[in-house]
Amino acid sequence: MEDERFIRPLQLIANLFFEETEIQLGDSSHDELSIHFSLNKEGEMMSAAAVLSANGKNYEASFKKAVDAVDEKEQFKQLKNIVSHVFLHVLQDYTKITQKWGILTGMRPTKLLHKQHQAEVPAEEARRKLREEYMITDEKIDLMERILERQLTMVPDLYEVKNEVSVYVGIPFCPTKCAYCTFPAYAIQGKQGRVASFLSGLHYEMEQIGRWLKEKGITITTVYYGGGTPTAITAEEMDELYSLMYEVFPDVENIREITVEAGRPDTITPEKLNVLKKWNIDRISINPQSYTQETLKAIGRHHTVEETIEKYHMAREHGMNNINMDLIIGLPGEGTAEFAHSLAETEKLMPESLTVHTLSFKRASEMTLNKEKYKVADRTEVEKMMNMAEQWTKEHEYVPYYLYRQKNILGNLENVGYSKPGQESIYNIMIMEEVQTIIGIGCGAASKFIDRKTGKIEHFANPKDPKTYNERFVEYTEKKIDKLNKLFS
Ligand code: SF4
Repeated sequence: MEDERFIRPLQLIANLFFEETEIQLGDSSHDELSIHFSLNKEGEMMSAAAVLSANGKNYEASFKKAVDAVDEKEQFKQLKNIVSHVFLHVLQDYTKITQKWGILTGMRPTKLLHKQHQAEVPAEEARRKLREEYMITDEKIDLMERILERQLTMVPDLYEVKNEVSVYVGIPFCPTKCAYCTFPAYAIQGKQGRVASFLSGLHYEMEQIGRWLKEKGITITTVYYGGGTPTAITAEEMDELYSLMYEVFPDVENIREITVEAGRPDTITPEKLNVLKKWNIDRISINPQSYTQETLKAIGRHHTVEETIEKYHMAREHGMNNINMDLIIGLPGEGTAEFAHSLAETEKLMPESLTVHTLSFKRASEMTLNKEKYKVADRTEVEKMMNMAEQWTKEHEYVPYYLYRQKNILGNLENVGYSKPGQESIYNIMIMEEVQTIIGIGCGAASKFIDRKTGKIEHFANPKDPKTYNERFVEYTEKKIDKLNKLFS
């Protein structure tokens, strides 16, 4: 246990139980809580035992597993899982808190199940593994299985789409900045000059990437306009951008899905909706986050609840027939009563999909920096709200189709995308399951290059602020094309 590589995974697990823990390996009399580990290896079998002594009581756990590692790195990974297993076990016993995701602290739990599925591990065996080795509860395993089934129904060629790519377009402007936001989002007011030069950089990137895709004969699976708020720019600017997309991207008519986030209702106008319709873009996202006016005010979203509802109807009238709405559980001052109200309002609208986020305290947001100013619900109440969302979606025939977890998420829960069957967002599946390369263009756009043979992922991010982007977009485009040439040679 002297290997420093244990510190990080143990700390991530400890943080599920306590705030801001610090892990020390070795003997120390200053520890608030000490756990004694013993590790053993006999042939292929590795075992770990842990004893936590506190309040005159011993909490004990042991776990044994055959290790079939090909190299040292994989061997350590398996050993780390065995140690995490006993660590979680004694902490659960000591605190009486059950971690529903077991030892998993990563962002994408469903990837683990896809791996088993791809390796043709029988479903029962995969379940057993998740339950016994990773200590995931049946409730969460059920959720993972339902999601996997939906994803493979929506994208039957999910394991082959690696030969195609998706494109993410980042537009970094919003009417005002929200308090929990860490996205590249700059208040647009009075910054028309900056918007215009940003858009000319974006046009350049679009043309270059489009030309490369055409030359190589590579198909685009999905396109996603995010940000910021892509509808914060004017209707004319949107029109020009989509017109260019049709001109320079290959076979746009056959792209499986094009989504435009219209997150802030205060950016939606009939003119902009007409532009979307003109270019056959009918999947948009309008995000109420909450239907309680005081909450919206507290988090700095300068629009009204009525405006969300009004813009939703306006979008429908203008032919948008796949609308996603986001709700956030655990916003400041909100509990089950406010959340029940948000669900009741959602019921009047019935969007095709509903994404339920759990509030996370992201390091750079205004909310984290001034944590004491924002009062948020406790673990039990957050869990109740999650259950309400699950129940509500079930009753209204929505299915879960993707999920992801974040660090510092309230109650160690997850964000879940629900949708009416057949209306799931393919882009969301692509980004969550990391099955294909996603090319990010525009401000703050993150590209994810995925090696088609090894599955190895390389991240590459465009500059977050428009000023740096405007100065360096040519260089960033070239770098991306270099990487793409290597991947698709
Ligand atoms: S609308 Fe979205 S991107 Fe814009 S500031 Fe608010 S949270 Fe950030």
